[in-house]
Amino acid sequence: MPMTERDPSLAVADTEVNELILQEDRRQRESLRLIASENYTSKAVLEACASSLTNKYAEGYAGKRYYEGMSVIDPLERLAIDRAKSLFGAEHANVQPYSGSPANLAVLLALCEPGDTIMGLSLPAGGHLTHGWKVSATGIYYNSVQYGVRESDHLIDLDQVRDLAKQHRPKLIWVGHSAYPRVLDFPAFAEIAAEVDAYLAADIAHVAGLVAGGAHPSPIPHCHAVSSTTHKTLRGPRGGLIMCRKAHAKAIDKAVFPGLQGGPHNHTTAAMAVAFKEAAQPSFRDYATTVVANAKALAEALIGAGLDLITGGTDNHLMLVDLTSTGISGRVGAKALDRCGIELNCNSIPFDRRKPFDPSGLRIGAAAVTSRGLRPEHMPMLAGFISDGVREAASNDGQVSEEFAARMRGEIAEFLAEFPAPGL
Ligand SMILES: *Cc1c(COP(=O)(O)O)cnc(C)c1O
Repeated sequence: MPMTERDPSLAVADTEVNELILQEDRRQRESLRLIASENYTSKAVLEACASSLTNKYAEGYAGKRYYEGMSVIDPLERLAIDRAKSLFGAEHANVQPYSGSPANLAVLLALCEPGDTIMGLSLPAGGHLTHGWKVSATGIYYNSVQYGVRESDHLIDLDQVRDLAKQHRPKLIWVGHSAYPRVLDFPAFAEIAAEVDAYLAADIAHVAGLVAGGAHPSPIPHCHAVSSTTHKTLRGPRGGLIMCRKAHAKAIDKAVFPGLQGGPHNHTTAAMAVAFKEAAQPSFRDYATTVVANAKALAEALIGAGLDLITGGTDNHLMLVDLTSTGISGRVGAKALDRCGIELNCNSIPFDRRKPFDPSGLRIGAAAVTSRGLRPEHMPMLAGFISDGVREAASNDGQVSEEFAARMRGEIAEFLAEFPAPGL
């Protein structure tokens, strides 16, 4: 029997999965989402993700495909590429990477040989696994040298970057982070890379939305290649993006396909195109500016509530709380807050004396709450929720009672009800 004769909607076809999705919708509506890598996409982005484009194979690039039936996919992918180039001012864009990690592997495959020396910010200092951390393919197939932050102020130590670069002569230097609360000095990195004749690759997975919205300097003029995710501050679908100068366009495209991937996820490409259009609107500039203003206000309020922040604040969308003085670990704190309806993640802090699985810090991001319409005046309230939860856990051996947690969940859901979650 053809599927069309019996093609019920999800709610009828699979009540188990449908129920779980509805539960997740509700959870995202009612909880305070502060995970720095997450956001709420628009309804338009969600609709593009859930389209017939998922049915289509399209290995290759527009005009040079290995399949027929490309009358829609070719113009669609060209549209996504043109919008990405215009949004970021890039000479070339590849919108096919399945996510941020494959995008980074493609940059390395394009610009380096296996065994070449690469440099990146170490994971405990706020870097990403794919910048050469030892358990990552990027640390296994390449000779990885890691730079860090200064012990005195927890800022990236450019003198150390220069010294290591001169000593190890890397083929490529990564600049980018997953947990660094300050603006990156792209021109300074470019100067160091030029001194040792290395490629400079920026990974703006976290700050892409801020860059697009003019709230963080752009790496594009300073880098040979720039990779990104599209789902963090950029507020698009889960996906990856690489931009580069014309000179490296062929190598980057070849590395993504056929070097690393098969068919692109066309439904994601469509959703990216939608997100790039959204990010080019004046309202997105307001969003990006407000993300930074909210993060600064939240950081100030958390410090006011007696919590310690790494570097004493933030210039971007994220901050790192050092829980050492409270007596509870980051994992214990994050678990307690999750029960209270506050979603964030534990994170290593620079020079952490605890293990990565149970580190000393909490990472907090302001992008998702900004997408719901929260503004700096609401941040003291959020800081109050967070510090109340931390204090309660700290005074109860890391535990929060169900009574306390339920009261917090109720207060938070009530507060958030005034700020509709986009897309849901
Ligand atoms: C999130 C992130 C990635 C990886 O993205 P995935 O989509 O999870 O693979 C890469 N680099 C940085 C800096 C990130 O923060």
